[in-house]
Amino acid sequence: MQLLEERILRDGRVYPGNVLKVGGFLNHLIDEKLMDEIGREISARFCREKVTKLLTIEASGIAIACAAAHYMHAPVLFAKKSKTSNVSDDVYSAQVASFTHNNIATVIVEKQYLSADDRVLIVDDFLANGAAIRGLRDIISQAGATLVGCAIAIEKGFQSGGRELRAEGVRIDSLAVIESMTDSSLTFAR
Ligand code: 5GP
Repeated sequence: MQLLEERILRDGRVYPGNVLKVGGFLNHLIDEKLMDEIGREISARFCREKVTKLLTIEASGIAIACAAAHYMHAPVLFAKKSKTSNVSDDVYSAQVASFTHNNIATVIVEKQYLSADDRVLIVDDFLANGAAIRGLRDIISQAGATLVGCAIAIEKGFQSGGRELRAEGVRIDSLAVIESMTDSSLTFAR
């Protein structure tokens, strides 16, 4: 997606540890026009899949999922990283190793919000090693629901998650795929 690639080149910042910071437009300060275009693009790619729910992990995926949900006319469900007192005990849960926080989190979804007749699109801001997608896929399978695919804003193609998940038969559609990045240059896969 050209608009997103241009924005990454203009405002993205590469940090040590293969981390791309996009806080100025995607996941801290959010450019609502860009977000709307991202949502429209995700919807165009998955509109024939009869998606009934968009599933993401708090926090960064939520805005992207909402933008897509607006066009796909399906609700957003997000996995929570902590179990607050207002969450029931009846939950699906999965372990997710965090790429940016360097820890392992248990993420949960209340069972009442996901069922076997759901057709689920996973949405996230980044795909790196694939732990977030694997955790969400685990939750979808606990519910007996169907995973129709994954819509990712930015895939770091030089990390292994996308390659491994595609080899396992998961449909991954990434709007921008970074082929390589250093603090002085960044290229996209074509
Ligand atoms: P994975 O689970 O695929 O290894 O990493 C994906 C998750 O880690 C995403 O939910 C995203 O929040 C975070 N993440 C991975 N790489 C980056 C990155 O380069 N920049 C930012 N801002 N987040 C990342």
